[in-house]
Amino acid sequence: MKLWKTLQALLLQQKARMEGVVVPDNMRCVQCGICSYNCPIGIDVRRYAWEGRPIRDQYCVTCGECVARCPRGVLHFETLTSTLR
Ligand code: SF4
Ligand code: SF4
Repeated sequence: MKLWKTLQALLLQQKARMEGVVVPDNMRCVQCGICSYNCPIGIDVRRYAWEGRPIRDQYCVTCGECVARCPRGVLHFETLTSTLR
């Protein structure tokens, strides 16, 4: 079980490096704050989700923790170009 979770985390990190930034679907967000609580950098992910903005924080290491921990599936990765509409 632990090995599977580690593998999932590694795959998510690889996906993040390839795909760019974390983008929220703010209509689904319930403002629980689990994403912010689990961000190792201390980024206020909850606020980005509230505002419906991509996380363009220079300190984001695209670890994928916020994406993995959100119980509502609000967060996902998008390429930089696909978010520049
Ligand atoms: S964990 Fe998900 S539902 Fe909770 S505040 Fe963050 S984005 Fe919103
Ligand atoms: S991807 Fe990682 S560093 Fe970036 S906001 Fe989410 S938890 Fe924080």
